Amino acid sequence: MKPEPVFDGHNDLLFQLWREGDREGRSFFEGRPRGHIDLARMQAGGLLGGLFAIWTPNGANAIDEDDLVIFPPVEADRARRAMFAMAATLIRMAAARPDAIRLCRSAVEIDAAVSVGAVAAVMHVEGCEGFGPDLDELHVLHAAGLRSLGPVWSRDNIFGCGVPFRFPAGPDTGSGLTDAGLRLVRACDALGVMVDMSHLNEAGFWDVARISDRPLMATHSNAHALCPSSRNLTDRQLAAIAERRGIVGLNFAVRFLRDDGRADRDTPLTLLVRHIEYLVERLGEGGVAFGSDFDGALTPRALRGADALPALLQVMRDAGFGETLIRRIAWGNWLDFLRRRLG
Ligand code: ZN
Repeated sequence: MKPEPVFDGHNDLLFQLWREGDREGRSFFEGRPRGHIDLARMQAGGLLGGLFAIWTPNGANAIDEDDLVIFPPVEADRARRAMFAMAATLIRMAAARPDAIRLCRSAVEIDAAVSVGAVAAVMHVEGCEGFGPDLDELHVLHAAGLRSLGPVWSRDNIFGCGVPFRFPAGPDTGSGLTDAGLRLVRACDALGVMVDMSHLNEAGFWDVARISDRPLMATHSNAHALCPSSRNLTDRQLAAIAERRGIVGLNFAVRFLRDDGRADRDTPLTLLVRHIEYLVERLGEGGVAFGSDFDGALTPRALRGADALPALLQVMRDAGFGETLIRRIAWGNWLDFLRRRLG
């Protein structure tokens, strides 16, 4: 039996390939036993598409102060080289094996990729340290297929302040977007590049909500009411996303799911379902989807890769979710959102 199709709001495969020196993405096609994602496991789990993040790697080591981990700013040239290297890997992968993976610029192109059995990849930049204030890199990458970005990761850059990882803590951790950050959001709106609110602190979140009139998107964040991590969304933020017919992708990282914030693999899949139920209550049935953080985070033991996705859908079924709602959360809601944003 074919697995239920899944579209996912966030994975870090491109960073892992970069870290491993695999610039052609060979291991994606041949198999990556240690990571969460490769072609065979995506097909086995029904993971037919997603936002493929170009995560800007940290420069210096994180500074660990008590419970607070601070990531220092990243030097721009180093960030730019890594960003273009990861973009080039995705472009090479799609050029080498269009039967297996395609770079998609719209929902129409996603439908076309899936219809020939190829994985549909949407290019996303997570943390814009590789962009200068003139935004030249944004325009070049947009022409190369970029359709989504988060202005900041969980550290500060010229565009704004990312939310540091704190627990328990709220997302209100400092100032919001800079003037360059406001210009970046406006440029994204003009180009048709989606702006991701995951990793923004609360002030930055409200800045984006204020200056953009587009539907709001948090690709990989959970409910703060169930897991009080600074990375999760408060009820007020969820209400704003709901009001703007936005979307939230459920993050599978145990630290953003558990009410004790612990990095414990023995986290039951029923906890993911509790977050989904809560998010559906706040956002409606059309506002909730997945944002796995595969290849970027510690996930539950029962969800150690894309091939395990049918197990999550089964736990949703066991919890009383109907097939129509499961299909919307797994696939339809992302596609509807992307159709509205990208055509
Ligand atoms: Zn992230």
